[in-house]
Amino acid sequence: MDSLRRLEKIFAHFPGIGPRQARRFAYYLLGKPPAFIKEFTSLVEEVKKSTAECPQCHRLFIGGSHICSICSDANRDQSTLMVVARDSDFESIEKSAAYKGLYFILGGTVPILDKEPDKRIRLKQLLESVSKANGNSAALLKEIILSLNTTPDGEHTADIVKEALAKLAGGTTMKNAPLQSTVVTILGRGLSTGAELEYADGETIKNALRNRR
Ligand SMILES: [Zn+2]
Repeated sequence: MDSLRRLEKIFAHFPGIGPRQARRFAYYLLGKPPAFIKEFTSLVEEVKKSTAECPQCHRLFIGGSHICSICSDANRDQSTLMVVARDSDFESIEKSAAYKGLYFILGGTVPILDKEPDKRIRLKQLLESVSKANGNSAALLKEIILSLNTTPDGEHTADIVKEALAKLAGGTTMKNAPLQSTVVTILGRGLSTGAELEYADGETIKNALRNRR
């Protein structure tokens, strides 16, 4: 395969990009002067180098500190944890300014019929993080809000997470840190069926948060 085809193939793997758009991207770059290409490639490298995954919420952030600016912000509501699928969902919710608690990025969703949800989402890490938060009485979690797309995959993922959290509450894994006092809510249907959080506007997100159940 020649390098142009390889470049097209890389673009075709971008989220939401089909082969035809991938080809347009490749030709667009080809039409650019060398200075642009240099800036583009070095910027990609620079962003990659300066980005780290927060060990607490697992979102990608730019900066050298150990945990991200949200996890380290004492003014955020430590008693509420919002679970989202991707960094782009987190961005939309932050932009709406409707939520002031903490986050957890699952890293994706689980397709229906998938047999190994642990390989698709950070379920184990979420349970660990919830156990840890509730073992520390100073930061007792009062609410976990599942904010997933209202698509079949999103709803399936919400079911998996809800079930795992319920098991954690009643199970043997966290005897010393019961989850009984924590409620698990789901973002209300201000979002219509099939809606993707990433594309929801601030007002819709505010309504969905207000109508959580
Ligand atoms: Zn964080």
